[in-house]
Amino acid sequence: MSTATNWQAGFHPVTPRTNCPHLHDNISPNWAEVTVDVSKPCTECNDASENWRCLRCQGVYCSRYINGHAAEHHKNTSHPISISFSDLSIWCYDCDDYITSRLLKPITTALYVSKFGEMPPNSNDIEIASEEDTTGSGEGPSNSAGESGPSKSD
Ligand SMILES: [Zn+2]
Ligand SMILES: [Zn+2]
Ligand SMILES: [Zn+2]
Repeated sequence: MSTATNWQAGFHPVTPRTNCPHLHDNISPNWAEVTVDVSKPCTECNDASENWRCLRCQGVYCSRYINGHAAEHHKNTSHPISISFSDLSIWCYDCDDYITSRLLKPITTALYVSKFGEMPPNSNDIEIASEEDTTGSGEGPSNSAGESGPSKSD
């Protein structure tokens, strides 16, 4: 009984490149605050089956297996980087390759949460990025950023 490793035949595992030079200029800095809805349909053709989200302008466009509007969006705008709603992989058109980076963690996490309704199993990878010593002082999630109204009225 020999276990045939199917994935070796025909399928080669993708190793995303980690040095995409287009990343810094093409991701929105406040991605962590962006609400991601993975069921959003393509902006152009309204197909909701297999879409990509542009990390530059947050537009949603369908894959090349549907109507290719994601590739078209890249052609029209030169926005190079998109994330797949299907498998959360990130593609750079300019690198012509899958990419990965610690900078992209909040993005993939936001999509994962939208898709599965829970934090990804490896989400603590995000936290070990900071070397600061956490003094567990019972801090809760405060979500008041963004509201800038006068707090004093007398
Ligand atoms: Zn790139
Ligand atoms: Zn489309
Ligand atoms: Zn775009």
